[in-house]
Amino acid sequence: VLGPQHPRSRGLAYDKKLLPMHRLDAPMTVLVRLIYASKVAAHFGPMDMHDILDKSRRNNIEHGISGLLILADGYFFQALEGDRAAVHATYARILKDSRHTGSVMLSSLEIEKRQFSGWSMGYVLSSEKNKPLFMSYSSNKYFAPLELRAAAAESLLAEIGAHARHLGGTETAT
Ligand code: FAD
Repeated sequence: VLGPQHPRSRGLAYDKKLLPMHRLDAPMTVLVRLIYASKVAAHFGPMDMHDILDKSRRNNIEHGISGLLILADGYFFQALEGDRAAVHATYARILKDSRHTGSVMLSSLEIEKRQFSGWSMGYVLSSEKNKPLFMSYSSNKYFAPLELRAAAAESLLAEIGAHARHLGGTETAT
């Protein structure tokens, strides 16, 4: 056991060979992906969506956040990825927004790389074309994202993202 005055105890004069690489060369940024779902508020209108996307894109570029926002069957399902502190600060702001209610954090993972780099906030609206995909993640006849387990949320996100990319972007992806 090392005493408090021993250089190794203070973490200053560590022999590099004694420490695992991830402790010595840890990157400054911890990259995370947070996924949550919430219910669209009763008073929500088309201009609200316009405003949310507008502000999201502006703020997210500023804070280095990328992601995808899905609106389906009266629910939002959103992924935010970026620096851990920035993602959590954005989510904290989103939680206060009265345009949705009952938010549930479905997953929060450290990631190696982004899934949606280049999308300050992609947007996917449910439609006849992608409905089967949403429904394949539902146990009844309605899409119920608040009940998704973390692995299912990650998987749905990956599939929707791939589907949107296949259609040539998210703005027009339906
Ligand atoms: P302002 O626009 O000045 O807003 C100040 C406060 O007023 C905030 O608390 C805001 O929530 C609230 N507010 C603003 N307009 C309305 C309105 N029309 N109705 C009710 N409350 C309102 N923001 C992001 O930055 N990135 C995102 O990825 C993101 N995703 C979102 C996803 C959903 C489902 C929702 C509902 C909102 C999302 N937002 C997102 C918006 C976010 O909640 C804040 O409105 C926004 O970040 C605040 O922008 P601002 O700092 O310019 O403040």
